[in-house]
Amino acid sequence: MCRHAAWLGPVRPVSSLVSEPEHGLLRQSYAPRMQRYGAVNADGFGIGWYDGAREEPVRYRRAIPIWADANLPALAEVARSACLMAAVRSATVGMPIEETATAPFADGRWLLSHNGRVRREAVREMASDPQSLCDSAWLASAVFARLRAGDPLGEALTSVVGRAGKEDPEARLNLLVTGGDRLAAVAWGDTLFTHLAEGVLVASEPLDDRPGWQAVPDRTLLLASPDGVLVTPID
Ligand code: GLN
Repeated sequence: MCRHAAWLGPVRPVSSLVSEPEHGLLRQSYAPRMQRYGAVNADGFGIGWYDGAREEPVRYRRAIPIWADANLPALAEVARSACLMAAVRSATVGMPIEETATAPFADGRWLLSHNGRVRREAVREMASDPQSLCDSAWLASAVFARLRAGDPLGEALTSVVGRAGKEDPEARLNLLVTGGDRLAAVAWGDTLFTHLAEGVLVASEPLDDRPGWQAVPDRTLLLASPDGVLVTPID
């Protein structure tokens, strides 16, 4: 399924997730090393970052392979931020291939990316006003609804993932969510790795072969802030 990555730490360009590392998302779009579901991620891509000029994040999403966008290399080099998210997509069978189905999804200051699949019925009651028919958009809208209701980030994620996982035991619910000043991730059914050096890097699979990448255990919530990282099991 899809591959995604996020960064929280000193200011870096989006290209630090995409093209600079040997196995960044550009390479992972056609040659992922750990992908269990699907072979290539050619159904779209998205990047999101925060800029002092506005409170909400900036996004750039396309429903084409990431390697086919000739404008991206320059954009990814100048889009710089202390908080970044990027994703390449392998659409689940039956899901629309369109920009609005492509991560990162956004609501106010929040950005969210989903790697996996879930029956839409499993999240229907929690979702409000999804931006696409894509299952990920429904899951995103369920998380955004909890955040809008005032839930802290970790609680919003564990309540939505816990319920979706109960309603759909086959669901794969790997998530990345950020509000610009903190980063959360869920490992639920697929690989997730983290690398801590200067800041926090979280990705479906390592972006390079540096030492220090650590697997995040399945069915856990990872909460990262500039102060550190906390990993807790989700029941
Ligand atoms: N189910 C989502 C989609 O169709 C995510 C797919 C994935 O993780 N590859 O886009």
